[in-house]
Amino acid sequence: MSVLSTRRAELAAVRELTVAYGRSSARVEALRDVTLAIAPGESVALWGRSGSGKTTLLHALGGLVAPSSGEVRWLGDSLSSLDVAARGRARAAGIAYVFQGANLLPHFTAYENVAFAAHHAGAGEVHPRELLALVGLEAKLDFLPSELSGGEAQRVAIARALAQRAELLLCDEPTGHLDSDTGTRVLDLIERLHEAYGFALVLATHDADVAARCARLIELHDGRIVSDGRPA
Ligand code: ADP
Ligand code: MG
Repeated sequence: MSVLSTRRAELAAVRELTVAYGRSSARVEALRDVTLAIAPGESVALWGRSGSGKTTLLHALGGLVAPSSGEVRWLGDSLSSLDVAARGRARAAGIAYVFQGANLLPHFTAYENVAFAAHHAGAGEVHPRELLALVGLEAKLDFLPSELSGGEAQRVAIARALAQRAELLLCDEPTGHLDSDTGTRVLDLIERLHEAYGFALVLATHDADVAARCARLIELHDGRIVSDGRPA
């Protein structure tokens, strides 16, 4: 095998990452000595029970939480080596989030939520109407988040992430607030868009069936990686 075919290109990575919350006796190590790299286009599940460190690891990959020790890299640059503005630009352009709740701007319509994200990310020409059609919401462009169901709101959040043209999509328990049929449809949509757009996907979940849909499964326990490979 050639060197090229064995080398794993690195989109985002953490090295010997420890993240602690609180001080002295209240100190909790949410992540301990975690090292991993995410390659462009791959689909990765972070799987573990509640409190195992999944959200903290997603936040670290996205530059939303600072390491207590160790390093977070984006496209080969250490995030700590960038100034705040450059870090913000890297994040805005490259990384999108889908949270457990849709976290839409409540006074903006579905259309405006998508358009605002595209504008903020400097994503150039983006067509919110087309993106909302892609997630099956063409009829609800002018609806406010309060007028959408949980599944519909989550689909707007996915369209918003696409509007950023991100290379990395971080999903934190994206179906956690949905019933199982709606959750399955949202996961099908994420999977279809992952294949169509080629962004890397990192999806945190406590649900083994959800995790098994990803090509690579990383299991976290008490802030450490205990396995990393193909799902069984
Ligand atoms: P998961 O997403 O797998 O449930 P988290 O990353 O949210 O795990 O949490 C990992 C650990 O860090 C848990 O023990 C949690 O209580 C703790 N933790 C998370 N966020 C905070 C915070 N803001 N302040 C203090 N402790 C926190
Ligand atoms: Mg979490």
